[in-house]
Amino acid sequence: MSRQRNHPERILNPVGMPGPGTRFVGYLRYSSREGSFVTQRHWMEQTASAFSWSLIGWFEEPRESAKYEEIERRPQLQTLLAAAGTQFQGILVYHLDRWSRNPAVTYGTLARLRRQKVWWQSVADGWDIDVVQQPGSSKLFSLAVQEAADYLARLSERTINAKQARAAEGLHNGNVRFGYVQPDHPQLPATPDPINFEALIKIGELVAEGMTDQQIADSLPDSRTHSPRYGERLLTKDTVAAIRRSYFPREFVSGRGRGTIESPTGELIEGKHVAAWSFELCQRIDEAVKQRRRQSQSARPPKVYPFSRTIICSACHRQLRAAPAGKDLYYKDTSRVRKLPCSAFGCLSVRAQTLTQQFATVLQQVQLPVEWQTQLGVRCREIAALIGSESPQERRRTLEAEQSRLIQAYRKGYIDDARLGEEIGEIRTELAKIPMAPIHDLESFLERAQEVADMLGDLANYWNTASMRRQHEVVAALLMPEGVVYDLQRQLVIGLRPRPEAQPALELALADEWQRGDDDSSRGFEASCYTGMLWLKPEHYDRYARRSAAEAADYQPAQRSSITREQRERVLALLGTDQSLRQIADQVGISYWAVLRLAQRFADPATQRPSHQRPKLSAAEQQTVLDLLATGMSLRAVAKQFDVSYASIDRIKRRQLMRQTPQAPLDGSAADAANGPVEPET
Ligand SMILES: [Zn+2]
Repeated sequence: MSRQRNHPERILNPVGMPGPGTRFVGYLRYSSREGSFVTQRHWMEQTASAFSWSLIGWFEEPRESAKYEEIERRPQLQTLLAAAGTQFQGILVYHLDRWSRNPAVTYGTLARLRRQKVWWQSVADGWDIDVVQQPGSSKLFSLAVQEAADYLARLSERTINAKQARAAEGLHNGNVRFGYVQPDHPQLPATPDPINFEALIKIGELVAEGMTDQQIADSLPDSRTHSPRYGERLLTKDTVAAIRRSYFPREFVSGRGRGTIESPTGELIEGKHVAAWSFELCQRIDEAVKQRRRQSQSARPPKVYPFSRTIICSACHRQLRAAPAGKDLYYKDTSRVRKLPCSAFGCLSVRAQTLTQQFATVLQQVQLPVEWQTQLGVRCREIAALIGSESPQERRRTLEAEQSRLIQAYRKGYIDDARLGEEIGEIRTELAKIPMAPIHDLESFLERAQEVADMLGDLANYWNTASMRRQHEVVAALLMPEGVVYDLQRQLVIGLRPRPEAQPALELALADEWQRGDDDSSRGFEASCYTGMLWLKPEHYDRYARRSAAEAADYQPAQRSSITREQRERVLALLGTDQSLRQIADQVGISYWAVLRLAQRFADPATQRPSHQRPKLSAAEQQTVLDLLATGMSLRAVAKQFDVSYASIDRIKRRQLMRQTPQAPLDGSAADAANGPVEPET
């Protein structure tokens, strides 16, 4: 026996089956298949009595720890291994996969028991500590170990097989699609939804007619989709696109009236449910979609826009989408078309040219203080310390895990484009609020921060001559994704979120007009979740906004006189509802532009000014004041009419003059002023 002790890892180092009366324990590990230990216990007792072993006790791995494979997380297994060889000489287990599904754990524990001269045997599949080493059976054992390890993979296969089987039966798997309802019995096909089936048919017909997804969503204002996360929602262009792409409503064989099932492996099978779109209609749908795709590909604009993925709406914090319209480019809030809430109407846009000039203005303000080198170093250290803190990085990992889970779910077809887009969008927004990876090398961080500071002074000149691609590079180098917060109602940049290495330089260089988010407790929530933000100080809003105010007053002047007072009143009343500006325009019977102009001028006056300056008259009343003044009525007479002071009427009039008179526009471009923010056609 001493020979064996000197060579504990020898391949043939048998423990030898113990004789009658040897003390044994049983190791029980919870299995969801059995639900209890009854079976496991029964077969171990049978085996022990067959060999006349004395079964002295049980080690039960409870449900909570049974799911783990690592020894560290299975306390009962640890105790058992510690006691093996002293309190008992034999271990029984029901099945190899109850002992371990991890090959390293299996081989490791058996080697340890072998050294302790403890017998190990699995009763259901017939392995024991010696046979697993014998030539011939060791190979089989390694297969069994691998098979146990593959268990989880097989489990998910089984789920897919069940879905595959349902698909082969012509039955839906997973949730039923728009236009159908769950049957009373799971073995029956989905049935047409009495509320939405008509709309589903209509969607097919409209697609075949060449309508865009947005047009279709607009033309079915009463239809709602349902999703677990968002609940009931009106149709959007994304949900229409998902419906249009689904196979479920399509007739599988011409003339038979049955729909189509897509199996988990991607096979198409004739379903048992009623088709919404005839075979012939489906051919027209495919043709129309193909044609539209050809058209949009030929007219595809260049892809790199300076502020795409960078600019977000200050009200809803969603990215503005770059939207070309004719020769112009706009950054547009799409919350409205996606039927998501935004307190700034969700549909406003900013002209790319305006934004580019406004960003140039910001760059022109850049001025480093005299002692900037020292201050830069101090600030770099503070930022590095802040970013190094642990908890945000954990949050980042959680969000990233959630993001990849969603992408998996999308690939497997559990969620559609629309839902993926929305949820990923939310996660990215969250991620953007978390500081970057910790700064490990303070020296090189300082160096890069210096480089940014050195280059900052020349950037304004470079910006003005740079191509769109180069401008995009500048923006990406200075700012984080979603790093430009844009107030669409005031038409001005109100927040910047620099990259960490650009943060110290920008903070110092813009300190006159911009303040750090962490200094500004008045913003509360906004400031606390956007670390490293720079906010434009409210007292400078006017100066930055002057140009856009001039624009708002100037553009489409002919329209102004064509709106009656009643129309204006109605628009102002409707702006408080959740109708789109276009819907309001249609309802009141005036142009979209006229509505937008009113929206921009009068939206939310209470939040635009500090309370002590808040006008006593409502927006609608103020407009009436202006209209009365325009008829030649005196200030005093108007003041009497509204029972307010002369001074407040005077203030209203002066405010209007401010808006109408272009006061030293920053670029003086008349063409720009003539075109306001526009809702581009998409
Ligand atoms: Zn918005």
